[in-house]
Amino acid sequence: MTFDQAAMRKKLPKEVYRALLKTIEAGNKLSEDISAVVAHGMKEWAMEQGATHYTHWFQPMTGSTAEKHDAFLSIDGDGTPIERFSGGQLIQGEPDASSFPSGGMRTTFEARGYTAWDPSSPAFLMKGGNGLTLCIPTVFISYHGEALDEKTPLLRSMDAVSKSAVRLLDILGTESSRVNTYAGAEQEYFLIDRKFYTMRPDLVMTGRTLLGANPPKGQQLEDHYFGSIPDRVLEFMNEVEKELYLLGIPAKTRHNEVAPHQFEIAPIFERANIAADHNLLVMEIMRRVAEKKGFALLIHEKPFGGINGSGKHNNWSIGTAEGINLLEPGDTPESNIQFLVFLVAVLKGVYKRSAILRAAIASIGNDHRLGANEAPPAVVTVFLGELLEKVLDAIESGKVDFTTEKQILDLGLAHMPVLNKDYTDRNRTSPFAFTGNKFEFRAVGSSQPISTPNMVLNTLMAEAIDGISEEIQSKIDAGIERDAAILEVIRAEIAATKAVRYQGDNYSDNLQDAAAERGLPNMKNTPQSLRALLEEDNKKMFASYSVLSNEELNSRLNTRLERYIKGIDIEARTLQLMLKTFVIPDVSEYQGEIASSFNGLIEAASRIGISDKTLKSQGDHLKALAENLSVLIDLTEELDAVIVKLGDIEEEFDAADYCADVVLPAMNKVRDVADLLELMVDRSKWQLPTYSEMLFEH
Ligand code: ADP
Ligand code: MG
Repeated sequence: MTFDQAAMRKKLPKEVYRALLKTIEAGNKLSEDISAVVAHGMKEWAMEQGATHYTHWFQPMTGSTAEKHDAFLSIDGDGTPIERFSGGQLIQGEPDASSFPSGGMRTTFEARGYTAWDPSSPAFLMKGGNGLTLCIPTVFISYHGEALDEKTPLLRSMDAVSKSAVRLLDILGTESSRVNTYAGAEQEYFLIDRKFYTMRPDLVMTGRTLLGANPPKGQQLEDHYFGSIPDRVLEFMNEVEKELYLLGIPAKTRHNEVAPHQFEIAPIFERANIAADHNLLVMEIMRRVAEKKGFALLIHEKPFGGINGSGKHNNWSIGTAEGINLLEPGDTPESNIQFLVFLVAVLKGVYKRSAILRAAIASIGNDHRLGANEAPPAVVTVFLGELLEKVLDAIESGKVDFTTEKQILDLGLAHMPVLNKDYTDRNRTSPFAFTGNKFEFRAVGSSQPISTPNMVLNTLMAEAIDGISEEIQSKIDAGIERDAAILEVIRAEIAATKAVRYQGDNYSDNLQDAAAERGLPNMKNTPQSLRALLEEDNKKMFASYSVLSNEELNSRLNTRLERYIKGIDIEARTLQLMLKTFVIPDVSEYQGEIASSFNGLIEAASRIGISDKTLKSQGDHLKALAENLSVLIDLTEELDAVIVKLGDIEEEFDAADYCADVVLPAMNKVRDVADLLELMVDRSKWQLPTYSEMLFEH
């Protein structure tokens, strides 16, 4: 179902096929005459499979994907309908850009936006209804060429890091035509029965439950899920795997042992831009298959309070087009040095730009996870593992001469592939962990596209690599022999970046103390984190690598702030609605029944000899119910006022801070009482499906 190399070879003339491959591999521009031939071949192929429509598929700044469908049908000069798909239609489209966020970059009179084919990502066929649509991955840019999407900056960042890395490799004596970054996204999700989902306005509107008492059995036992995947879920997994396989995304679903009804899917890693596209498709396919199988897919970072949330481990590596993974420790001294140089580049980049890395993954949903002792904390540190720590310490101490160091490298690192599993799994609490031949950025939220985190990683890497190249070059220019110069720089960088390395438990208070001592940024929520994008030095990095102009960066900041504020506003209003139309009426009704039963009891008391003590116990029960209901009503009114006030705040950062500091706490406060009442009220009066039902029934 993808227009992959085999399909291209079959459908395109040899020279066109070759030219297209070159475009894809080297990131060249596609000429117009070639695109017409490619378009024709692609259309033939798609129609043979049964496609009737095509669409430009893109990633606006909404955090999801968008598409605009057109039929392959055109009307020719004399009014006859013909099948047509021109090079122009392949290469460029014009969706109504004004319906997508631009973060203030566009005024209405220049609302035009264009989608342009990204030949590096294969076109594919997507099922919808009984038809098939040819989906053409595109970038989305404004009339003036500003990026309106998440993909363009990612592609630019890949070019930037390639340029920098090729130059550093040249200094190291390795020739390479292009360097790529690769990503593999391990995706966590929940599946619940659709009938429960549709009865929960909070899940439908916001993706998470805003109310709900914890079930007696949560995840304390951590034992009971593995090996007991219900058949329905297995069927879901099989179908998802099959659909993804057809789209050229080989993926393995897995059972996750942490929370009930939580699972994970991990596709094989690919070039970061393709991995980003494919992760979006994974989420989309899972959503569709879930629906078909009577499930609802919950991709939110924290669908259930008190139960582990979902993340997305972004496995990231950097390697040459010639096939060398630059983060592979290997077993030859030369490549070890190369490995060490790139390893310290990662340390340097992450240390210097940890605030932007934190900002890249800040979102409403992820705020519930980061730092909640179930997920990587809000402090970005790097875990390397015992062995690499030892190697870096030895190099830093400088007491050993080069040959001994060589030995350490040979001996120590040569063992790494064997030690991988044990030693990398030892620290599951680190937000950024070295895992054998890649880094695993574990703080990404389950619902987030991986384009932005990878874009940031690539850019900070480009900058760090350039810094290292310059340091080495200036030492060589000063007459220092090359190997010695490289080693000196490695040593200096190891010392300079020590603060970002943290091997301990990231969920502990020690980390919080260490962060304060070492001056590492520790941003607790989205508005705090996003302020990193206001800093001149951060803006300069994106601009100088031509990844995001100041205006483009600013538009992303605006869009994300707006989404945060609107998102919390929606959550608060949904909660308000549920309190007023479900919880308060349900509790009142039950209270009425208890009250009349209590009255009956009082009437009958003397006749049938009910003691005062008995009456008191039952009276207390009624009293507790009534008191909690009153508190609930009061707190609901408080929430009303809080929501009204949010609407009056003009400045966006002020509004976002207010959401984090006032709205969310007000929501939590009223929720506590509602959850308490849930456990006091007759189940048959409670309209909302409970946690126990959603998490334990299938
Ligand atoms: P884990 O121990 O975390 O389950 P896996 O070996 O299963 O690790 O890999 C997890 C993910 O990392 C997969 O998506 C895999 O394709 C990806 N991955 C493996 N090697 C690399 C690499 N060199 N670069 C990027 N991603 C990689
Ligand atoms: Mg992992």
